[in-house]
Amino acid sequence: MRIELEDSLQGQVDAADASRIIQSCVHCGLCTAACPTYELLDHELDSPRGRIYLIREMLQGAPASATTREHLDRCLSCRACEPACPSGVEYGHLIDIGRQEIERRAPRPAAQRWLRSLLRRSLSNERLVRMALGLAWRVRPVLPARLKARVPPRPSHSAWPRARHARRVLTLRGCVQPTLAPGYDAALARLLDRFGISLVGIEGTGCCGALSQHLGGADQTANAMRRNIDAWWPLLDQGAEAIVASSSGCGAMLKDYGHLLQHDPAYAAKARRISAMLRDPAQLLVDLWESQPLTLQPVSPGEERLAYHAPCTQQHGLRIQGPVEALLKRAGYQLAPVAEPHMCCGSAGTFSILQPELAGRLRERKLGHLTAGLPMRIASANIGCILHLQQTSPVAVHHWLELLEARLPVDSGEAA
Ligand code: SF4
Ligand code: SF4
Repeated sequence: MRIELEDSLQGQVDAADASRIIQSCVHCGLCTAACPTYELLDHELDSPRGRIYLIREMLQGAPASATTREHLDRCLSCRACEPACPSGVEYGHLIDIGRQEIERRAPRPAAQRWLRSLLRRSLSNERLVRMALGLAWRVRPVLPARLKARVPPRPSHSAWPRARHARRVLTLRGCVQPTLAPGYDAALARLLDRFGISLVGIEGTGCCGALSQHLGGADQTANAMRRNIDAWWPLLDQGAEAIVASSSGCGAMLKDYGHLLQHDPAYAAKARRISAMLRDPAQLLVDLWESQPLTLQPVSPGEERLAYHAPCTQQHGLRIQGPVEALLKRAGYQLAPVAEPHMCCGSAGTFSILQPELAGRLRERKLGHLTAGLPMRIASANIGCILHLQQTSPVAVHHWLELLEARLPVDSGEAA
């Protein structure tokens, strides 16, 4: 696809990136079969190829309308189209640029702007999340059933092992996870502890930036990335071995820091180092297990059968397939086959809030496939997917790290 950028975009680095990406598309359409929104809506402009066309038109100066914005809004940023593309089109980076541009060219009605700003500012702030959820849990008993189902369950307290090892791996505090699912990081900390590594959660880190990134908030995203880098930097210089995120959505975002800050002269090199040090917990644990197999307690009879939902951020964002399933099998679980494993569950950051009808249809389709093999439970690797699936799943949905950690024998030396 040839592209002639409109005059006002000449010399802008994002527009130049977009132009390069658009020109790598050869219109073959092989990506459309992998796209959940094209599958559901059967409309070319709700496919990757159609959205690339819309972004190209916009950057060439054609008027952008509310309809253009709707087609871009309906993209899940799941990136299932990327591995399906033989030309290596970096669609995920392009849609981020397209989203920033459409906000400028086709401003939203005030109510939509207010809601998106509220989501950007509140969900990425751990303190506000804690306050809002504290209130929701207090009033939950008197809420109507429809609203009650949307309030996530209150998690139980999760203790980390004390940091007793010289070998260190870093993580980030996150935004919603410390309040809604503190058990994921605690499970990872206990697993790493058995391999002689302490997981360190750094004060001063916070949201990875993914939420604001998907909502077109470029400045807030850049500030979140710089703040996390500054907080990690001294410990990286002291010999920390890797950076991990127990939710794959955060992991995929951290892997992208190098790209997203490539034009920031003060942070480009640091961001590249962060991306290079990012490891998915499953990759890390598989490697550690190779040299030091763990002894685990057997799975309770009747609880062996699981279905694993690989989040889009893990399989398409991080391009990791297989290590979680391998670890669960080593722990004694049996994995039921799941059809359409590449398809998004509909969670997709704030997509489930902003596009509830499409998100609900994708969830029911996904749950149908996940439960077809009659599993006792569903496992996944991302807080958003787990909370979204939990709302209507007939079986419990867990983080795979918690299922693995539950098999660890007691170790008196790890107490916090
Ligand atoms: S990111 Fe997902 S929803 Fe968006 S165009 Fe690609 S496959 Fe479709
Ligand atoms: S598969 Fe790749 S090259 Fe073909 S239309 Fe889709 S994005 Fe373009």
